[in-house]
Amino acid sequence: MQALTNRLKHVDRRPMNLWEKIYIPAIVKGMAITFAHMFKKKPTINYPEVKRRFSPVFRGLQILNRDAEGRENCTACGLCAVACPAEAITMEAAERQPGEEHLYREEKYAARYEINMLRCIFCGLCEEACPKDAIYLSETFAPAEFQRKQFVYKKQDLLIPHPINEPEAYKKALGNRAVKNSNN
Ligand code: SF4
Ligand code: SF4
Repeated sequence: MQALTNRLKHVDRRPMNLWEKIYIPAIVKGMAITFAHMFKKKPTINYPEVKRRFSPVFRGLQILNRDAEGRENCTACGLCAVACPAEAITMEAAERQPGEEHLYREEKYAARYEINMLRCIFCGLCEEACPKDAIYLSETFAPAEFQRKQFVYKKQDLLIPHPINEPEAYKKALGNRAVKNSNN
């Protein structure tokens, strides 16, 4: 029979001799392999105490951004939802009322903004489509949940902490973006 690859191996079906039947040499060989691995560098890490560095192009959980005064950037234009190949984003727009200028940067804002994380493929197209720097993919994983509905992230789940009221949490959520922005 012609082999499809050069990885074909013939199985040795000879009856075992006495040396093989007592299994001790095979056990010793296996233990030697295990022992040798004790001195090799571990490929695993003690997560979550130790964390690996992410790739510079890693795309994680979405964050809805605020400006330096803490106002929401999103103007509910819908471009991110249109760009999303997974149709994971839904929103409802509302008009900013007098006296709400400190909450929303634009005259229109997202009264409701949801991302279905079970659909999201973390492609980053929503970030690329946004003309207001209102959404970006962070270096955080979407946490594990037990129910499907818990994966539909609401606006309050996605909004970055307020930069003035919660500066430390804001800086943490910005992650590498803070470093990049300060270099610009
Ligand atoms: S990362 Fe991609 S799939 Fe996920 S919400 Fe954004 S555009 Fe949609
Ligand atoms: S996140 Fe950006 S693209 Fe999406 S609705 Fe808001 S402003 Fe528009």
